[in-house]
Amino acid sequence: MLDTDFFRQWMTATAAAMDREADRLTELDAAIGDADHGTNMRRGFAAVGDVLGKEAPAAPGDVLTLTGRCLISTVGGASGPLYGTLLRRTGKALGEAREVSREQLAEALGAGVAAVAQLGGAKAGDKTMLDALLPAVEGLGSSFGRARDAALEGALATVGLRALKGRASYLGERSVGHQDPGAASAALLVGALAEAAGSGDGA
Ligand code: ADP
Ligand code: MG
Repeated sequence: MLDTDFFRQWMTATAAAMDREADRLTELDAAIGDADHGTNMRRGFAAVGDVLGKEAPAAPGDVLTLTGRCLISTVGGASGPLYGTLLRRTGKALGEAREVSREQLAEALGAGVAAVAQLGGAKAGDKTMLDALLPAVEGLGSSFGRARDAALEGALATVGLRALKGRASYLGERSVGHQDPGAASAALLVGALAEAAGSGDGA
């Protein structure tokens, strides 16, 4: 079972990954957007780290709703409200349970991803964060390692897609040939989840 501490570790590992990979995320956004995705994610998750260092959320769901609120208030641009919605909705779906199973998390994350799709009006194949998140939810039904691998594969597969939502969609055909920055950051979020679970070998 996954307890509150596990969820804190997930968010801390995510903050570390966003900080480590910020330059790469910004380079991806420079190619098809406005070159701010890495700074957005780094700033947002640094604030999450600060908040989680000060507050002690009681339940797994509370860790995620607090994180989501923090991202909405600190990240401008499309990704703040989208990631904020993802984590708030996932947290809400987990409710007040003090421990949750991987299967329960997969179901809650599915609700969070559906809320992102509703907010942004995007679907699979539109070259957005959903192209990493949707396969991750599917993979999480099997294992943490499978979720991580599926998110990464989904993010890499956005290279061949044409963007239909967000800033990159203004480029039309010229968005093809570049990885979507939000899909890349979503793969980091899911990678951090597998890291927190200690599933280096597909556990
Ligand atoms: P902005 O586009 O406002 O500069 P960011 O650069 O931080 O914001 O984030 C861009 C990422 O947000 C994109 O790579 C994409 O994955 C995601 N995104 C943008 N619009 C949407 C949308 N409508 N639905 C889902 N994801 C989106
Ligand atoms: Mg941007």
